[in-house]
Amino acid sequence: MKAKAWKTLLALAVLAAAAWQGAAADSRGTAATRPQGAKVSGKTNTIEKVHKTDEEWKKILTPEQYKVLRKKGTEPAFTGKYHANHEKGVYVCAACGLPLFSSDTKFDSGTGWPSFWKPIDPTHVETETDRSFFTTRTEVVCARCGGHLGHVFPDGPPPTGLRYCMNSVSLELKKAE
Ligand code: FE
Repeated sequence: MKAKAWKTLLALAVLAAAAWQGAAADSRGTAATRPQGAKVSGKTNTIEKVHKTDEEWKKILTPEQYKVLRKKGTEPAFTGKYHANHEKGVYVCAACGLPLFSSDTKFDSGTGWPSFWKPIDPTHVETETDRSFFTTRTEVVCARCGGHLGHVFPDGPPPTGLRYCMNSVSLELKKAE
């Protein structure tokens, strides 16, 4: 093959690699590709992650918190401290303190778990597909520490129609002044 043909092939390979990288970046939803609406109050939507070992988490969390936040457990319905709570404030992650839900979006779902129709900031929670217990649900985790919070269901009230069904033990209410 002549030198010119090799050069053309090389250029095509570089282009293909660039396109593949672009596609990979899209699937992760980088700051550059995420829709404008996902950026709230001019804050950066890149959350700095918190990484700890199981042993480190065990030292920080209560056994109940560890079971739910790190091992994806579920507290029994109607046993948590927040399902019937109506105090004003911001619910933060019990593991890392990241603000997750405002009391303004809390509603009585009757399920026995604190329920919200939207997160305080769409970048503060992440969702993952959960196929445990022979069903497919959407798991909600803290965007900073990866702690398990609960699940989100499409049967919530307006305006979002979403029900973020959370474990009380994964949350801590910072009461409004
Ligand atoms: Fe967290």
